[in-house]
Amino acid sequence: MGRRLTRSFGSTPALRSLLVIVALAVGISLAALPRLERYFLLQAAAREEATLRLATESLRGALNRTDVLPRLLAERPILARILRDPDNQGLVPYANEQLRQTALTLNVADIWVMDGDGLTIAASNYRRDTSFVGRRFDYRPYFTDAMTEGRGRFHALGTTSGERGYYFAAPILDGTEIVGVVAVKILMDEFEATWRDSPNTIVVTDPSNVIFLSDRTDWHFNSLGPIPEPALDTIAATRQYPLDRLQLLQTERRALTQGHDLLTVTGGDGREEFVTSTGLIAAVGWRVSVLTPTGPALLQARQTMALIVLVFLFAGLVAVLFLQRRARLVERLDQQRQHREQLERRVAERTADLNSANAQLVQEIEERKTTEQRLRQTQTELVQAGKLAALGQMSAALSHEFNQPLAAVKAYAENAATFLDRGRPEDARKNVGLISQMADRMASISKHLRNFARRPQEKIGPIPLLAVLGDALDLMAPKLKAAKATVHYDPPAQEIMVMGGRVRLQQVLVNLLSNALDAMEMMDRPEIEIAILGDGTRWRVEMRDQGPGLTEDTLTHIFDPFFTTKSPGKGLGLGLSISYNIVRDFGGTLAARNHPEGGAVFIVDLAQAPDQQAVAAQ
Ligand code: ADP
Repeated sequence: MGRRLTRSFGSTPALRSLLVIVALAVGISLAALPRLERYFLLQAAAREEATLRLATESLRGALNRTDVLPRLLAERPILARILRDPDNQGLVPYANEQLRQTALTLNVADIWVMDGDGLTIAASNYRRDTSFVGRRFDYRPYFTDAMTEGRGRFHALGTTSGERGYYFAAPILDGTEIVGVVAVKILMDEFEATWRDSPNTIVVTDPSNVIFLSDRTDWHFNSLGPIPEPALDTIAATRQYPLDRLQLLQTERRALTQGHDLLTVTGGDGREEFVTSTGLIAAVGWRVSVLTPTGPALLQARQTMALIVLVFLFAGLVAVLFLQRRARLVERLDQQRQHREQLERRVAERTADLNSANAQLVQEIEERKTTEQRLRQTQTELVQAGKLAALGQMSAALSHEFNQPLAAVKAYAENAATFLDRGRPEDARKNVGLISQMADRMASISKHLRNFARRPQEKIGPIPLLAVLGDALDLMAPKLKAAKATVHYDPPAQEIMVMGGRVRLQQVLVNLLSNALDAMEMMDRPEIEIAILGDGTRWRVEMRDQGPGLTEDTLTHIFDPFFTTKSPGKGLGLGLSISYNIVRDFGGTLAARNHPEGGAVFIVDLAQAPDQQAVAAQ
């Protein structure tokens, strides 16, 4: 959630800057487009300067070249002569032909001679239908100017020929008297023919704003501006142009720079726009304008604009992407910093937790130590108490064990004394024998205790298992008999040699037999089963009784010293503990378990003696 939130925040400035860039690009393009258009229009106009110069110079050249011709021609004597004698049928045809030849030679349209009234006397076109001969041109300014100022110039649509031409005229002198005027006309059509090849439009306007020359023939005699009233009168008087063809062209002009305008023409072809380059032919008062269509230049300007906008947008986009990446990086770094801080905080928290746990542990350890110390003390005290209790128990048992035979010894001794007094030595001997037996019993108890106190140094070696078992049974015979016990024992035929000590093994077996009898003391006919089992390396003596068996608690502690369930006078709890250690000294084991059909089973497991021959030696 937090991440998405920061992301959207991160992208908003980027979006905003993108919009700003687009707006900026649009604004700049709108602001810059007119300038660009102007630039490209001026470029286009500049390229057309050469066209303008060429058009102007060719016109100027043609006019200048022709300008001198009338004056030169006027010097021909024949012209003055025919003017003096216009009816001379010999001279006039000659003059006509001469003029025709000259016109052909000079490549001019017409040459003609007028008298002082403007009446044509001779003309180069005398042969044609449109011959000037006999026509009067006194209304033309070139005539009047030539007559009055010595030089005449004029441009007009020919009233006879219907062709646009430029007229040059000079007076013909006879002596000092002006007798007539010679005029030369050149046609302007050929100029237009050359202009038509170029994509531009060339327009030549006279001082009255009338288009006199142009490669656009439909514009001929149209005016680029209103014709002043006096000028119109002059045109009418001089019959310069047919008044009915004079039309005002719908134009709109805007200055671009010095010499270049933006001209919009609205006419039959619709709306056309041009950039103009204008030059002046001062001698004749003509303005020569090259009109270049603005379309290509404007297109170029727009294309350039589009390119600039694209470049701008691209740069903007790159900048935005860069900024966005930067923003993301900053955001990521910020996140990382936050994570780090969080981690550090957590580590600090955990450390604090650990420290407190540690302190708690230390405290607990201290407490444990104290408890342990207390426990050990208690244990020591307990052991001490246990020892004392054991000692007391043992003392009670010992005193019981010894007191009984001692009392018997005392009684037998007294009886023996009495028998001796009465002269019954046999009975006395019997009693002495019983005393001896009691002494043996006490010696046996003492031996037990000695065994318990320190390990006997008897060596371990091969001993005859069956013989030892037989001895034990013999030893126990009186007790067994007293208890009316039956022993089920089927000894193997062959003696079995096992590793051990003869006396100690016998002691173990006697102890087991004795315990079995104790367990069955309440029974009328106790039974003991003894089995000898072997697997070739080890031999087992299994002794089962019919007693109550072993409780769980007994099974757990049965081999512990001083563990007994018998009353203080009867048991010391040392028998099995001593037996266990003895068998272990032999490299064997002593184990106890309950028989599935009742009664306890004690198993003495012993290693077979390596050398069976040793039996023979014993
Ligand atoms: P004591 O015979 O002096 O009690 P032992 O070490 O010989 O000492 O025996 C320990 C205890 O094991 C006995 O008190 C008795 O509870 C139990 N016990 C030994 N042999 C048998 C047996 N055959 N059947 C049942 N309990 C037995």
